[in-house]
Amino acid sequence: MVKQTIQIFARVKPTVRKQQQGIYSIDEDEKLTPSLEIILPRDLADGFVNNKRESYKFKFQRIFDQDAKQEAIFENIAKPVAESVLAGYNGTIFAYGQTSSGKTFTITGGAERYSDRGIIPRTLSYIFEQLQKDSSKIYTTHISYLEIYNECGYDLLDPRHEASTLEDLPKVTVLEDPDQNIHLKNLSLHQATTEEEALNLLFLGDTNRMIAETPMNQASTRSHCIFTIHLSSKEPGSATVRRAKLHLVDLAGSERVAKTGVGGQLLTEAKYINLSLHYLEQVIVALSEKHRSHIPYRNSMMTSVLRDSLGGNCMTTMIATLSLEKRNIDESISTCRFAQRVALIRNEAVLNEEIDPRLMILRLQKEIQELKDELALVTGEQRTEALTEAELLQLEKLITSFLEDQDPESKLEVGADMRKIHHCFHYLKKLLTDKKIHGPSRAPFSEVKDQVNQGPSTEEEYKKLREILQQRDNEINILVNMLKKEKKKAQDALHSSSMDRGEPRRSQSSPFPPGNPEGLRTLPLSAPTQAQDSSVIQYRSSLLHRKTGVREEMSLGRQEAFEIFKRDHADSVTIEDNKQILKQRFSEAKALGESINEARRKIGRLKEEITQRHVQQVALGISENTTVPSAPDPMEEKLRSQLEEEKTRYKTMFMRLKALKVEIEHLQLLMDKAKVKLQKEFDAWWAEEATSLQVNSPPVNLFNHVKPFPQTPESQHKRSQLLSNQSDVYTRKILPSPGPLLHSQEQSSTGTRLEDSIAKRPVSSVPLTGDSQTDSDILAFIKARQSILQRTGCQ
Ligand code: ADP
Ligand code: MG
Repeated sequence: MVKQTIQIFARVKPTVRKQQQGIYSIDEDEKLTPSLEIILPRDLADGFVNNKRESYKFKFQRIFDQDAKQEAIFENIAKPVAESVLAGYNGTIFAYGQTSSGKTFTITGGAERYSDRGIIPRTLSYIFEQLQKDSSKIYTTHISYLEIYNECGYDLLDPRHEASTLEDLPKVTVLEDPDQNIHLKNLSLHQATTEEEALNLLFLGDTNRMIAETPMNQASTRSHCIFTIHLSSKEPGSATVRRAKLHLVDLAGSERVAKTGVGGQLLTEAKYINLSLHYLEQVIVALSEKHRSHIPYRNSMMTSVLRDSLGGNCMTTMIATLSLEKRNIDESISTCRFAQRVALIRNEAVLNEEIDPRLMILRLQKEIQELKDELALVTGEQRTEALTEAELLQLEKLITSFLEDQDPESKLEVGADMRKIHHCFHYLKKLLTDKKIHGPSRAPFSEVKDQVNQGPSTEEEYKKLREILQQRDNEINILVNMLKKEKKKAQDALHSSSMDRGEPRRSQSSPFPPGNPEGLRTLPLSAPTQAQDSSVIQYRSSLLHRKTGVREEMSLGRQEAFEIFKRDHADSVTIEDNKQILKQRFSEAKALGESINEARRKIGRLKEEITQRHVQQVALGISENTTVPSAPDPMEEKLRSQLEEEKTRYKTMFMRLKALKVEIEHLQLLMDKAKVKLQKEFDAWWAEEATSLQVNSPPVNLFNHVKPFPQTPESQHKRSQLLSNQSDVYTRKILPSPGPLLHSQEQSSTGTRLEDSIAKRPVSSVPLTGDSQTDSDILAFIKARQSILQRTGCQ
């Protein structure tokens, strides 16, 4: 059992404005527990909450100032927790602070750079690396991702996350068993066998969260998110399973109601966040007071879920995120105060071990059989029925491996069954007789030599030559087989590399330019990993495809508008940067993959040379009638050292490629996410534009100012159909307002691109198709273009 108080750390977010400095200072002198002093600016000090005080001092385990890197945060805060989780203890890391103080940045990471990845991806990477290193245990990893919003739980990894709002999803509910253990109903657990799979789940959850978020509910600041890694481990053959959970928690913004005190829904939400943080505070106060018997965990969903993390069986760490600017002074002080209370809570973490009943049953069954056998032997009660074919075969296999085992201590264990023991003796006897009869033909070389010395007869000479011939034949066969295998390998490699080149892109919605070398996915990492990877990638891309799928149904006009929207969007620089980095990484990976293949071929060649050398030596020994020379062969030694060198090189490159693969995967996920965000913002903007068009356009006489369609009889017919179709409200409403507006559009358009030329034209010259949906989209596009030009200052 490990007793420990909750560890508290502080992280100060970089400030944009320099003059904000001087508001706080960090005292690192007190090495063991550094302190953070928040100094009240003079103009605030007087009227501030706490009358005349000018500064406040808070102690933390460690304080990370503005320049602290994500790497340092992981190394100092998360790594020790991850280590104890690997050892079998529960762990929790939660970030607490006001909105925009850096909670999400710390827990999940920034959306722009790979180096900005936060605690979750780094912890996953670390855990999977450790699991791979430790072959003494069998590990299983599962992931769950829960969001708590307005006191309701939602499963961010629910496969039914088609729903566009959180409220459409089945609620996750808390159940308590008689032993007061908490169970979460409707929260799915997903097995992740690799870092990539786990990372995919994280991004899937984040994307789902973003999709469900509307400007009104701003879920990212108003909800709590709990990403949990469930780890179980077991030694092979043992029935004891160790289970540990690691919760990585991004809490809702801790700001007070007073600040968000607006009417309507926001107030309800503010009340809920504060209610649930208020209950968290209550639980923490209760826990920090000695001799409190009742801890009000049940008051809120979050405290129920985190019950073990707070005052229970868990190693818990809190990160207080601070945005130390003048206007945030009071919130920062309250965050620090909260942390001081949290630091008083003492947890007792125990190893969570349990017996796996299935394995226990198997073990007991085996033991029972052994006891029965022993009993039968002691009481002399013999079994008489004959051994089955399978049992006989099994016994013979056992005998063969027993005879082949070089270890003089090895035992032939057949149990206490007399029938088996008898059969073993029979079988051994048979082998011995066979050997006697056919013995001379299998005589070792030394015997052959003796016979030769005894005076060679033509008969014996002939026999000996035949044997040597036979051996040569065997050697040739072995070599031919080896050659065949090598050839096949080379062909396979050629085949798979050509497959790589021909591999289609993931989906049409891919953010990459065509021709991107994405062969990395089939680079020579282990085969099962590839298979799983591709399934997860498919899963992910199908999800993102669904999320971004709207585009494919877009009409031309809307697509064009989307292209411009994308080009002018602030995120486009980041996307473009990441694209470039990805391209670089891809070519790096490709080059590395080629070097790895080359190293592999070289290793194969060296191995082959060594074998050949060996065969030659043996053959030399035979033909000269001497045994294999015991002195080391310098040529072989040289080949071996070359082989070792090549293997080391291969390993280094392989590790680098693996790291590169994770980085590429991460960057792709970041870009996919950015893309979904862009699409979402575009849709919102488009809807907004459409609504404003509806409002501005008079619903009647729409076609008075639009030049008639090309006067083919067919189009006339279509048009009259369109006009008479009174139910086509959308078409009527979305058409732009007449005359003056269109005129001004014509004058203001400046570009020369296709979309410009369309936008430039008065509606009268726009080639309407007669298809209501397409026409309305074209017209709406013109209006959209106008609005974009206004927004980007091109007007
Ligand atoms: P919260 O989750 O607390 O509301 P965020 O993590 O979203 O806050 O941070 C708000 C903004 O500040 C984001 O754009 C984020 O990238 C940025 N940010 C936060 N902390 C840091 C940091 N330590 N370094 C750089 N940028 C940061
Ligand atoms: Mg956040």
